[in-house]
Amino acid sequence: MSKRILIIMAMEAEAGPVIEKLGLKETPANPQLRSHFPRFQGEFEGKDIVISLNGKSVEHGVDRIGTEFAALNTQSAILEFAPDLIINAGTCGAFSADADIADIITSDQPVVYHDHRVPLEGFDRFAMGSYPTAYRPKYFQSIEHKLGVVTTGNSLDMPDVDKQWIIQNRGMAKEMECAAVASTAHLYGIDFLPIKSVTDHIDIELDNVEQFLNNLSKASNKLSETLIKVLVNID
Ligand code: SAH
Repeated sequence: MSKRILIIMAMEAEAGPVIEKLGLKETPANPQLRSHFPRFQGEFEGKDIVISLNGKSVEHGVDRIGTEFAALNTQSAILEFAPDLIINAGTCGAFSADADIADIITSDQPVVYHDHRVPLEGFDRFAMGSYPTAYRPKYFQSIEHKLGVVTTGNSLDMPDVDKQWIIQNRGMAKEMECAAVASTAHLYGIDFLPIKSVTDHIDIELDNVEQFLNNLSKASNKLSETLIKVLVNID
């Protein structure tokens, strides 16, 4: 049976290039889900690929970025497609000493949250989370990439308390969905892999919003090229 790979992505702009290059077709709406999560499916290199997006907010017309819709999207796609592997692909911020714009970051270390602070015995570690990845060097053979901790929170900015926490825990990719997707994959015992491309440097003066918008298309193209190479390498 061919391997089923589910790719969870938050933003339409991040997903566009890869949906096009893989020639995936939008799946018919699932009436139970009222088409909340746009899904695209197809065969590639003998694998069954599904890309599922977080969808757009009806009220605000923007992509539903962040952890809540990433978790809902992931769970409903698991129930619908029973994947063997889940990839969360997207963009991230990084410190300028760690990575350049459009660099690819993946991880062989657990994914964590950087803004869930609960200083109570047991709840502290639960809140921070620690969700495994299924990194294999072979997946990234002849692909330039960096290995570091992916850290998730629900804000684009970085207040000092988050920054200190990220530095202490050696966070390399700061983004807004990965831990939610990784924890849902973990809940169902499914292998999980993050692939992130850098859109902004979180330690430089220029506002991350402006950096993000300037670099989104460069990073998304790099992300789609990398994702396709990884899909070829996975057996
Ligand atoms: N301003 C953008 C939205 C960017 S929100 C727009 O108008 O479209 C950030 C999205 O990119 C999230 O899905 C998150 O996972 C990722 N991201 C990129 N850089 C980030 C950063 N520095 N901090 C947090 N998330 C980041």
